[in-house]
Amino acid sequence: MGDAANGIFHPAMRCLQFDSMNHHPVSSLQVCVLGAGIVGLATAWQLLQDGHRVTVVDSAQTGAGASGANGAQLSYSYVQPLADPSLWLQLPKLLLAPDSPLKFRPQFDPHQWAWGLRFLAACRSSVSRRTTASLLTLPAESRAGFEQLMAQEALDCDFSATGKLVLYPDALAFAAARRQMELQRNLGAVQHALSPAEAVTIEPALALHAAHFTGAIHTPSECAADCFKVCRALQQLLEARGVRFLFQTEVTRLLRQKKSIVAAQTRQGLIEADAFVVALGAGSRRLASPLGLDVPVYPLKGYSITVQASQAEGAAPRVNVTDAARKVVFARIGDRLRVAGMAELVGHDRAIPAQRIESLVTSTRELFPQAGDFDDVQPWAGLRPATPTGLPVLGRLRGSPDNLLFNTGHGALGFTLAFGSAQRVARALNEGFRPAAAGHAACTA
Ligand SMILES: Cc1cc2nc3c(=O)[nH]c(=O)nc-3n(C[C@H](O)[C@H](O)[C@H](O)COP(=O)(O)OP(=O)(O)OC[C@H]3O[C@@H](n4cnc5c(N)ncnc54)[C@H](O)[C@@H]3O)c2cc1C
Repeated sequence: MGDAANGIFHPAMRCLQFDSMNHHPVSSLQVCVLGAGIVGLATAWQLLQDGHRVTVVDSAQTGAGASGANGAQLSYSYVQPLADPSLWLQLPKLLLAPDSPLKFRPQFDPHQWAWGLRFLAACRSSVSRRTTASLLTLPAESRAGFEQLMAQEALDCDFSATGKLVLYPDALAFAAARRQMELQRNLGAVQHALSPAEAVTIEPALALHAAHFTGAIHTPSECAADCFKVCRALQQLLEARGVRFLFQTEVTRLLRQKKSIVAAQTRQGLIEADAFVVALGAGSRRLASPLGLDVPVYPLKGYSITVQASQAEGAAPRVNVTDAARKVVFARIGDRLRVAGMAELVGHDRAIPAQRIESLVTSTRELFPQAGDFDDVQPWAGLRPATPTGLPVLGRLRGSPDNLLFNTGHGALGFTLAFGSAQRVARALNEGFRPAAAGHAACTA
C-alpha cells in the first residue's frame, strides 16, 4: 500500500485529492491520520465508525514506534503520573547511580531543558493529584472502547485480564503507595494493599522473591495484551473497510492556508484532506512547532525484552507485576514474558546498549529466576511521547488551524489510553473541532 501505483502521489508534488472510490455519506469528512502507532490506529478506527473516510500515513509501518514491544500493560486503574513529588527525594540517586532506570544525557536542545524544567515543576502533589483525577476517567472510556472492539472483532492479541501487583521495596514507599491508593479509591478504583505472603497467593511465581519486598498493591481489574498485535489487527480491520495506508511516507510539513491545513507535505507528494489528526508520538512536536504550536512532547526512551515463558507451574508470572524499586514491569503475553522499563531523556536516539538489556535480564532473574530462557531474549527500545504532567494532548490546540487536531503525548500509558483518546478526539472533530477537555487544557496550563 501507499505507493505511486495507487494514484495518490505524484513525483512532481502535484496535489491530488483523495476520493472517493468508497461510497460514503456526503457529510463524511476525508480525514488524514498522521501516525500508525496504537494511538493513530485507534483514532482511525473511531473515525471510521463515525462515518469518515480515513487515510493513515506513517514514515515506517504499523507499530514501528513506541507501540512495538512496549510493556503490554493496560493500566486502567494505575495511572499515577511519572511527575510525582516523591521523585525529588529519589532524584539524586536516580541520576547518579550507574544502573539507574532514569538517565539524562544533556543535548544542545532548548526543548529538552525546557521540558525537564516543566517536568520538575509538575512534580508537586497538587499537579500529580489533578493528573490522576483527569486520567482516571479517560482509562475507563478507553477500556470500554477496547472491550467493545474485542467483543465485535476476534482480535488475536494475547489479551489477558489477570490483574496487576505493584511491589514496594520499603515501608516508606509502601505507605506512599497506600495514600495514592486511597486517592484512587475515592475516584472509583478497586485496589488492595497486600503483604508479601498475600501477594504470593495471587502470583505464585513471586515465591522466591517474597523476602525482598515490603508490600504490594493489587489491582484485580488490570489487563495486558500485545500492543503490536493490536496494531496489526487494527490495520487489517481498517484495510478491509477501505482505509488507505501510506507507509514509508514521512510527513515533513503541514501546509497552512489562512485558518486551515490544506495538505501534509511528504517527499512523495502532498496529501490533501478535510481534517488532519497528528498522532506521531514522539515525532508530533517537530511538525507542530513550525506552525507556532506548543506541543510539549519529548521522547522518554525505554527498553524491553521478550522471552519465551516457561510453562512450568509457578515459574513465569501470569499476573502483571511492577517492581517499583527497579521501575520495571512484567507482563505475560501468551506464551511470552514481556519485561519493560527505564526512562531516558536522551533525544531521539533509539540505540540499544547491551548493559540496558542486561539490566532488564538481571531484574527478571532476580524476581522470577525460573521464568524462561534468558539466553534468548528479544531486545527493543522505544520512545514514549511524554508531556511534563503526564496528560496527553487531545483535540485542537489554542491558536491551531480549525481542521488540525492532536492525539499525542500519552507517555507511559499510550496503549492504555488509546481508545478513550481516540473517542475524545473524534468527538472534538465531529463537534466542529472544539478543544477537548482533559488533556489539552491541563497540558498547556
Ligand atoms: C519501554 C516502554 C514500555 C511501555 N509500556 C507501556 C505499557 O505497559 N502500557 C501502556 O499503556 N503504554 C506503555 N508504553 C507507552 C506506549 O507504548 C506509548 O505511549 C504509545 O505506544 C504511543 O503510541 P503513539 O501511537 O502515540 O506513538 P507511536 O507508537 O510512537 O507511533 C507514532 C508513529 O508515527 C510515525 N511517525 C513519526 N514521525 C512521523 C512523520 N514525520 N511522518 C510520518 N510518520 C511519522 C512513527 O513511525 C510511528 O509509527 C510504553 C512505552 C515504552 C517505550
